Amino acid sequence: MRIVRVETWRESLALARPYVIATRRIEAVELFFVQLVSDGAPSGLGAASPAELVTGETPAACAAALDADRLAWLRGQDPRHLGALCRTAADELGPTPAARAAVDMALHDLLGRCLGVPVVDFLGRRSEPLPTSITIGIKSAAETLEEASEYLGRGFRCLKVKIGHDLAADVERLSRLRESVGPSIAIRVDANQGYDLEQTARFAALVARLDLELIEQPLPAAALGELRRLPPALRETVAADESLLGEVDALRLVEPPAACGIFNIKLMKCGGISPALSIAGIGAWTGRRLMWGCMDESVVGIAAALHAAHACPATRFLDLDGSFDLARDAARGGFRLQDGRLQILDRPGLGVERG
Ligand SMILES: [Mg+2]
Repeated sequence: MRIVRVETWRESLALARPYVIATRRIEAVELFFVQLVSDGAPSGLGAASPAELVTGETPAACAAALDADRLAWLRGQDPRHLGALCRTAADELGPTPAARAAVDMALHDLLGRCLGVPVVDFLGRRSEPLPTSITIGIKSAAETLEEASEYLGRGFRCLKVKIGHDLAADVERLSRLRESVGPSIAIRVDANQGYDLEQTARFAALVARLDLELIEQPLPAAALGELRRLPPALRETVAADESLLGEVDALRLVEPPAACGIFNIKLMKCGGISPALSIAGIGAWTGRRLMWGCMDESVVGIAAALHAAHACPATRFLDLDGSFDLARDAARGGFRLQDGRLQILDRPGLGVERG
């Protein structure tokens, strides 16, 4: 069994609902796709959504890394040699983690199809289905309630609210949101590095009665020393996102006293399923709870993250809403959304199709 052809292409996809976070406004995404065609019937699909502001990978760098000539090493390889191929992908594509992730997930997809099982089953299926959060950007309290009501109407039971521009307005919005949705809906927040140490402590005190599930990345990515000055109970509710790219960051975060209680793992930050599972291992062995996040992405990347999430017993949170907002995708399938939960499909590989 051999890979005989590598196809790559680029798609510029508009978002149905542009949004604002603490660092910028997002209206469209540049996605890159990889298809590995084998001499048997199966082919494997992967997708990249470079996170320039988080990892420094520009769309141009991702495109260059996925140039067909640069991926020529894949031709003639046996997809059953997954571990070795993923290591080569790390060596060849290490500085461009989204490009590496696209190749890594295409290799996993292809092996799953060759074996005739979902990827999660050869990784080791452990977790029960979990609800995914759906994200509300920074906007007025009235608009926040309106958007929340729409999402609850669509069956979602977990909301992630972007904060970090204005502490007083954040607290006011969240108070009104909790009052509006009641106690049974999970609410988590993401400051995208928008607060400083004092603001983080003050925010936590002001929202203590609102039963927030977690606080994602309150401080700047490099401010681990400051993060460690937060009270231990508060640190347990902090999810590291921009502070956690790859395995080395994971090791830094868990050095005692651990800087956060939760790892937000994203395939586009670390380079795919293989490194994500290494990070998950570091987290699990040191008592971190695992959250699986995403960028604005195709269903291909979301499915890959979902399969990895369900292979890890320490998975507690899903934030895999990145494909819902694409006005158009270049692939379909990957999961079924039911009552706000993402269900893995009983199909070989990642269960995604081109087109
Ligand atoms: Mg985040």
